[in-house]
Amino acid sequence: MLNIALFGPPGAGKGTQSEYLISKYNLYYISTGDILRKEIAKRTPLGLEAEKIMSSGGLVSDEIIVQIIEKTIKNNSQASGFLFDGFPRTYVQAYILEGLMLKLNTALSSLISIELKEEESVNRLVQRGKISGRSDDNESVIRKRLNEYRTKTIPVIDFYKERGIFQAVDGSQDIKDVKKSISNIMSKELHKELFNVIIFGYPGSGRASYAKAISEKYGLENMDMSKMLKTEIANNTLLGQKIKAHYENEETVSDEIAVQLIEEKLEKSHNANGFIFKGFPRTLVQSYILDGLLKRHQSSISMVFNLDMTAIEAIQMHDNKHITDGSMNKDKSTANTIRRFKEHEKKTLHVINKYNEQYGVKKIDGTLSFDEVFNQICLEIESVFPDFE
Ligand code: AMP
Repeated sequence: MLNIALFGPPGAGKGTQSEYLISKYNLYYISTGDILRKEIAKRTPLGLEAEKIMSSGGLVSDEIIVQIIEKTIKNNSQASGFLFDGFPRTYVQAYILEGLMLKLNTALSSLISIELKEEESVNRLVQRGKISGRSDDNESVIRKRLNEYRTKTIPVIDFYKERGIFQAVDGSQDIKDVKKSISNIMSKELHKELFNVIIFGYPGSGRASYAKAISEKYGLENMDMSKMLKTEIANNTLLGQKIKAHYENEETVSDEIAVQLIEEKLEKSHNANGFIFKGFPRTLVQSYILDGLLKRHQSSISMVFNLDMTAIEAIQMHDNKHITDGSMNKDKSTANTIRRFKEHEKKTLHVINKYNEQYGVKKIDGTLSFDEVFNQICLEIESVFPDFE
């Protein structure tokens, strides 16, 4: 998981930079200020309690902050990462964040501080107050907020400097230059993370060839399930013998075998930049298994592709493929082909829909040429990881 906290005085541009970060890196955005303003608008007990303190420019109690943050994190625990804006704001809250991250088996990756001189903060906030309608954007409250920042929030910096995850950015630059500085930090952070891709598509849509090409271009370990199964059989390992029995009975392999294979490969792949999964997960159960397996490695899914085509187009491609490559006999029988297509429609489409809701699946027109499809996949990958090229 990539968890980022944006830090800086009021008016430094945290909100503006957040918009760009959440859309680009698919992070779940948590702004404690926004949540509190919503609670106030809804006139909830929590909102009413916070209202007075906020309009005077003070900090609301850590108890209130814990309640809202814990709820938001718990409701979005499947997110690929969080972006915190306006939190942690006190030394105590820094410890609270540690605890909350630990509960999710993760940690804060980086605290990015957008630095700005106090007078510049005041100028910007007074200007913003003319259009924002925020009751705390007037000069006397702004001074109080900056005083709170100086006395209670600045000490948080030491907490993160000691942990080696503090990064400063000059907030007086143009918005686009601040964005560039933050992008550079994000790129470095992403390289510390595993980049995990799943590729879906009908049988015969070319998933294996794309998985191989992606794996080679970006240094991702190729988790091609059918290839892994065949390798085990060829090496005649204990697991291979079990798999062979399944294959001979025309059954799909059990989840236990799949888990064991993936677990082994995850353990062994220390130098990979991440993983590309093909042929797994193919059921909802397997998608939860994959979440669990990746979580054990403090990781999660980064991007999901679907090679888009109709079933008829897929059957044509499937047919052509088997005429040209002379692949396994059992793959060629019509009954087996129908079984695999049915499996895909009955089970795997649900998995694709689930990922689409969770992360947004990238649809690629699978009827185009290999080069065109691969090019589009690369563009998508590089739009998030520009210096992966
Ligand atoms: P912001 O939108 O981040 O500028 O926050 C507006 C106001 O909400 C602050 O001046 C505080 O009164 C309150 N607030 C937001 N986040 C926190 C926090 N983490 N701890 C305490 N008070 C907060």
